[in-house]
Amino acid sequence: MVKHDTKPAEAPPDERRELTFGKVWNYAPAPESTDHFAIAERYGLFVGGEFKKPKSGEYFATINPATEQPLAEIAQAGDADVAAAVSAARSAFPAWSKLPGDERARYLYRIARILLERAREFACLETLDNGKPIRETRDVDVPLAAQHFFYYAGWADKLDLAFPGARPRPLGVVGQVIPWNFPLLMAAWKIAPALACGNTVVLKPAETSPLTALRLAEVCQQAGLPPGVVNIVTGDGRTGQALVRHQDLAKVAFTGSTEVGKEIQRAVAGRGVELTLELGGKAAHLVFEDAAIDQAVEGVVRGIFFNQGHVCCAGSRLLVQESIHDLLVDKLKARMQRIRVGDPMDKNTDMGAIHSKAQLQRIRELVAAGEAEGACLHQATCALPGKGFWFPPSVFTGVASSHRIAREEVFGPVLAVQTFRTPEEAVEKANNTSYGLSAGIWTDKGARILWLAERMKAGVVWNNTFNRFDAAAPFGGYKESGFGREGGRQGLRAYLRFDGALQPG
Ligand code: NAP
Ligand code: MG
Repeated sequence: MVKHDTKPAEAPPDERRELTFGKVWNYAPAPESTDHFAIAERYGLFVGGEFKKPKSGEYFATINPATEQPLAEIAQAGDADVAAAVSAARSAFPAWSKLPGDERARYLYRIARILLERAREFACLETLDNGKPIRETRDVDVPLAAQHFFYYAGWADKLDLAFPGARPRPLGVVGQVIPWNFPLLMAAWKIAPALACGNTVVLKPAETSPLTALRLAEVCQQAGLPPGVVNIVTGDGRTGQALVRHQDLAKVAFTGSTEVGKEIQRAVAGRGVELTLELGGKAAHLVFEDAAIDQAVEGVVRGIFFNQGHVCCAGSRLLVQESIHDLLVDKLKARMQRIRVGDPMDKNTDMGAIHSKAQLQRIRELVAAGEAEGACLHQATCALPGKGFWFPPSVFTGVASSHRIAREEVFGPVLAVQTFRTPEEAVEKANNTSYGLSAGIWTDKGARILWLAERMKAGVVWNNTFNRFDAAAPFGGYKESGFGREGGRQGLRAYLRFDGALQPG
C-alpha cells in the first residue's frame, strides 16, 4: 500500500499550523493499514495563494455523514472575504492571461500529476466528508478530476485551433459555485477549463463538503501556481450569494439546484456577466424488450444507486416496455438485495451514507408522498448503521406521471418505474419533464437508438450504458437543467470571448 503522509517535513509557522495542518486522522480503511494523513482542526480561506483567517471571524463544522462526527472547522467567508478573494483574482489576471498557453498548461499538468500522486489521500478525504463509498472516490471521482486537468492542459496552447478565426480571449475573473455531490470533481470541472483559457477564479464549495477543495488549494501551492489564480472561499449560501453578486466578475459558473440557479440568473441579469448553469435532472432510463436484460439491470442499478442517487443525471425514471416489466422488476429487486450498504470507508461497500440530514429529510418526504399518492414501494432489506444518515435502495412501481416521485428530483436512491408500449410513447413519456439533462436507452437495435437519441430532449443520451463520464465529452442540459456545456472542446467556450471575424458555430 502506498503511503501518503501530508504532514510537512518541517514544522510550519503557528499561523499555518492552525490554518492548514492539525491533528493526524487515522482513517484506517483496513485494520492492517498504517496510512494516515492530516486534517486540520481549522481551515482558513485560500486567498492570494495563502490560507488566511476569515475577516468575518466565523467558523462552522463539516461532519462525516456516516458517523455525524465533526471533521474540521471551516471558515465562513463574509462579504469582505469574498471581496478580498475577487481582488486577488483580479490582480493575478493580467499576468496569468498573458502567459503563453503552453506555460499555463504546465501548471495544469502539474496539478493533474499531483492529484494522481495524492489520489489515495483525496479519495479518503472525499469519502469522509461526503459519505460516498471509497470505491467510487478511488475509481471515479479522483481519477476523473485528474483527467479533467490533463485534458484541459492539452487545450491551453491550442485555443486558436479550437476556434479558427474567432480570436478567443479569456474573460477575466470567474466566480464558481459548486454542490456537494461530487465536490472534488465539480471543482476540477470548473477550475481546469477556466485556467486553461487564461481566466482566474474564485470558487465556493458547498458548505457540507469543503475539504477536498481546500486540499486542492494545497495542491495549487505545491504546483507553484501563481498566487491569486485560484482562490477558494468556503461558507454557506450567503457566501455564494456574495460571490455571484460581486461587481468585478466577468463570469459566473454554477452547478447546483434549479431553484438557486434561477436566483443566480436574476442576480446577474443586466450586468453583462457571462453565465453557465448546470442544474437538476430527472432522467428517463428506457429499457426495450429486445435489450440484454441482465446488463440492463446492472445499468439501472448504476443509474440510480451510484453515489446514493445524489447525481444530477441519475436515471431516476425507469421506463420499461410493458412486455418485460414484471421480469425486469423481479430481477431488479433481487439485485437490489445484493447491494452492500454501510461503512463508506470499506472498499466492499456499494452504497454509502446519505450526504446530510437535510437531504435525508427530503428523500423521506418524497418517499412518503409516493406512498400517499398510491405508488407501490419496495425497499431492499438491509441493516443500516445506528449513527449517521442512511436510506435503503428503494424502488416504486405503479407510478403515474403526475406523482411527485415521477416529477421531482429526489436526489437519493429512489427509482420510479413506469411502462410504455411503443417507441413513440417512450419518447413522449421521457420528454414529459421540466428537466433535460440526461437519458439512457437499452435496446439491441442500433437504428432505434439513433431514432430515439434524436428525439429525446436531453444533453447526454447513454446507449446500453449509464453514468459514464469522460473529460472529452460535453455535459449539460436543456430546459430547467440549465445551459452551457462542461467538458470537451465545447467546455472551453464557456470561458472565452471571441474578438475575431468568425464567431464559433
Ligand atoms: P444548491 O442548494 O443549489 O447549492 C449549490 C451551491 O450553491 C452550494 O455551494 C450552495 O451553498 C450554493 N448556494 C446556495 N444558495 C445560494 C445562493 N442564493 N446564491 C449563490 N450560491 C448559493 O444545490 P445542492 O443541494 O448543493 O446540490 C444538489 C443540486 O445540484 C441538485 O439539484 C443536482 O441536480 C444539482 N447538480 C447538477 C449538476 C449538473 O451538472 N447539472 C451536477 C451536480 C449537481 P451551500 O452548500 O452552503 O448551501
Ligand atoms: Mg461533510
